[in-house]
Amino acid sequence: DLMLDVAKVRSDFPILDREVHGKPLVYLDNAATCQTPRQVIEVFDDYYRRYNANIHRGLHTLSDEATSAFERSRDKVRAFINAREIREIIFTRGTTEAINLVANTWGRANLKAGDEVLVSQLEHHSNIVPWQLLAKEIGFTIKVIPVDERGVLDQAAYRDLFTERTRLVAVNHVSNAFGTVNPVSEMASVAHSHGALILVDGAQAAPHEQVDVVAMDADFYAFSGHKVYGPTGVGVLYGKAALLEAMPPWQGGGEMIKTVSFEAGSTFADIPHKFEAGTPAIAEVIALGSALDWVSGIGLPLIRAWEHRLTEHATKELSRIDGLRILGTAPGKAAVMSFVVEGAHSQDIGLLIDQLGVAIRTGHHCAQPLLAHFGVDATCRASFAAYNTPEEIDIFVESLERVIGMVR
Ligand code: PMP
Repeated sequence: DLMLDVAKVRSDFPILDREVHGKPLVYLDNAATCQTPRQVIEVFDDYYRRYNANIHRGLHTLSDEATSAFERSRDKVRAFINAREIREIIFTRGTTEAINLVANTWGRANLKAGDEVLVSQLEHHSNIVPWQLLAKEIGFTIKVIPVDERGVLDQAAYRDLFTERTRLVAVNHVSNAFGTVNPVSEMASVAHSHGALILVDGAQAAPHEQVDVVAMDADFYAFSGHKVYGPTGVGVLYGKAALLEAMPPWQGGGEMIKTVSFEAGSTFADIPHKFEAGTPAIAEVIALGSALDWVSGIGLPLIRAWEHRLTEHATKELSRIDGLRILGTAPGKAAVMSFVVEGAHSQDIGLLIDQLGVAIRTGHHCAQPLLAHFGVDATCRASFAAYNTPEEIDIFVESLERVIGMVR
């Protein structure tokens, strides 16, 4: 049976039982942060109750148990994205820190004045601003891969942007604002044919798409725990081993060294530890491993099929509303519905619909260049997860109609 047992899925999420303003919570802000199943909460709780200790240091039992669980989690991440080696998995605070790490190490060591970096029009600010900060210092050029009116990247224009100075392509796998799923495998092979690397921001892909970094041939791949049913404060940078080995360290401190001497300077640990200075988010890393177990237990193909149904249902229902315009109509898009309503400010819709128990996101979604391209400065965004239901979408659409009636 290809149907997701959504009642069973929902029973894993204690937060879904709560009310907001006296109404049952309808949580449709999953692209910002998705909710956490009790299995993950229990792993977190168990860590602090039984084996809270610093890792890679102590010879005592608690430290040993914490280290083993931490490194098991690294292997779960490796398997989740089908990386070849566990040393290719670096734990960061999130996608943002992962991209900043690449910009500050690989970027600083390899980019020169006059070089070119291609960034897509669909990017989140976290895959734009780190490159802008560095470009200002170094003097390389940022070129933008354009989108069409559906929010699909123009692949012909992409190929035409390459010159002998193109060093890196920075693109998301799935757009957080529009849900567009980008053809990152094809984009990687184009980049590589020009001798450029590709960094894929997978923050919105990890919860929706089966990721295979080897098949897509990504040089770097980043995602965040809190968008894939895990905790905040933890994320992942995957990098090809040879690249990571050649990159200089970023933050300095404990954990990332081999030796430190005032006379001889310092030597650095092997990857991945070279990029993990200081005490990491131990409980969060371990809990992320259990979140990935939870996702794999259901299976991304099933989650994707379910969310696709929700997205189709939402598209059909929203299209009935007079003066509502959906932004982002890419075929096969992920479970993200961005829209604006004639005569109603997105902000007002967001505030009023919250009064009815419905949580959506309003604003620019950290994608100001994309929204500006479409002539808007804000949208409403409803985004779905495995635990959402068609009935919730009906409540959302009915509530939206009520709210529009109030503000128009
Ligand atoms: N990239 C994309 C596509 C995102 O959706 C987000 C989160 N909204 C980020 C990057 C940044 O992730 P984080 O805030 O977890 O670092």
